[in-house]
Amino acid sequence: MAIDVSAITAAVRTVLETQGIAVVSDTSDMVPVGVSNRHIHLSKEHVEALFGKGYELQPMKELSQPGQFACKEQLTIIGPSMRPIEKVRVLGPVRKATQVEISRTDSYTLKVKAPVRESGKIEGTPGLTIVGPKGVVTIDQGCIIANRHIHMSPADGEAFKVKDGEYVNVLVDDGERRTKWFDVQVRVSPDFRLEMHVDTDDANAVGLPCGGKVRVVKD
Ligand SMILES: [Zn+2]
Repeated sequence: MAIDVSAITAAVRTVLETQGIAVVSDTSDMVPVGVSNRHIHLSKEHVEALFGKGYELQPMKELSQPGQFACKEQLTIIGPSMRPIEKVRVLGPVRKATQVEISRTDSYTLKVKAPVRESGKIEGTPGLTIVGPKGVVTIDQGCIIANRHIHMSPADGEAFKVKDGEYVNVLVDDGERRTKWFDVQVRVSPDFRLEMHVDTDDANAVGLPCGGKVRVVKD
């Protein structure tokens, strides 16, 4: 039988509160972390250019954010270094514009000067070449290092007292390489579930596993 810890916590809290017992929790400012490996979002046009006309992406695994999924498809990316990075996962659903999210480490391998950007803000970013089984696409922009961000539902936004687009600081106070991340963007939407997203460089630097927890701090 699967035990849902959060459901038990909520039930215990309700019982205590109906008895007038104050419930103090110091975990209310904790946020679970999702580590994003390098990945590609594709436009419909580029799906067809890389995989063939009429091709549809094949969902493999649901991601934590509702509606988002990892696909079976993987692609090769090549930058000016001509050193390819293979097996880069495609994430669905299709988007308006193709976007390749890499780490700083990847940018050195590719020799691409990718800036740190919010997802979707790709104006003026470098492009690269994407190789698929049925074709090759060279994008002239869309290669970014995703900024550190926290997805929140509107209810989470209220609990954390933050608004969409605001920036917070985050304490990594677990493990042997504790640190603090500044200027972490908060993104609030009914489509989001509470989770902080960092790339593999950030996660590896502090030894944070996927599902590890960090703390939102005021200063
Ligand atoms: Zn994200």
